[in-house]
Amino acid sequence: MNYQARQRLGCSVYLVHDAGEWLLIDIGFEDTAEEIIEMIRQMDFALANCKYLVATHADVDHIQGFKRAKELLPNAMMVGHPECKRLLAEGDRVFTYAEIAAQNISIDLPIIHIEQTITEGDSLKLGGLSLDVWNTPGHTGSQLAFRLGDLLFSGDNIFRDGCVGNIDAHHGSDLPAFIQSLERIRDCDVKWLLPSHGPIFRKDRVQLQKTIDRLTEYQHMADFGTCAVDWPLLDQWEEELARGFDPDKA
Ligand SMILES: [Zn+2]
Repeated sequence: MNYQARQRLGCSVYLVHDAGEWLLIDIGFEDTAEEIIEMIRQMDFALANCKYLVATHADVDHIQGFKRAKELLPNAMMVGHPECKRLLAEGDRVFTYAEIAAQNISIDLPIIHIEQTITEGDSLKLGGLSLDVWNTPGHTGSQLAFRLGDLLFSGDNIFRDGCVGNIDAHHGSDLPAFIQSLERIRDCDVKWLLPSHGPIFRKDRVQLQKTIDRLTEYQHMADFGTCAVDWPLLDQWEEELARGFDPDKA
């Protein structure tokens, strides 16, 4: 929808349609939800034929507008990962980034009811199309991606510049899981990645490997706090302590 609007409207909102049925992947913030749906109406899509509203994950910048969207598209079924359903039902403000106390960020998070949970192995049928649901944890536990032929709606797994969705222990980020999700994307035969932020881009194995290598390093860096799996420096130091410290050799 950002391409259709020729301007940035929240996160990347994707409309997929076939044989009169359509769905939306994410919606972004509430203040742009109506504008996006009005644009869809003007494109001659029947609002009554929206079959699914799909949450890629529970982050407020992806889902805040779904409460309003559901009011405008009452026939659409809200779908998302089971953990996304729980976080949104509980109105969890930390995992969803509605509240970042240290940065004075406090954003409204309406209660959003995921009506049907979807997970690895499920598919969303739309006209003659079938979108395969992939669990791609890492950025957060509930991160989903959706495969449609040569396309992967890739969520916050990787962006065109090789950056990934942010890594934060308070957000349920998991570096080993993130690497596995990126390896899966690297090894699959889709041609295009359609991320939740920024432009669509061609899948590039070399770039994905560069990102995987970077995250692999992060696993052993104190920079990433409790998201790191170990800190080799402390093991080295332990050996050095056992040997004894000699300033002349340091
Ligand atoms: Zn995001």
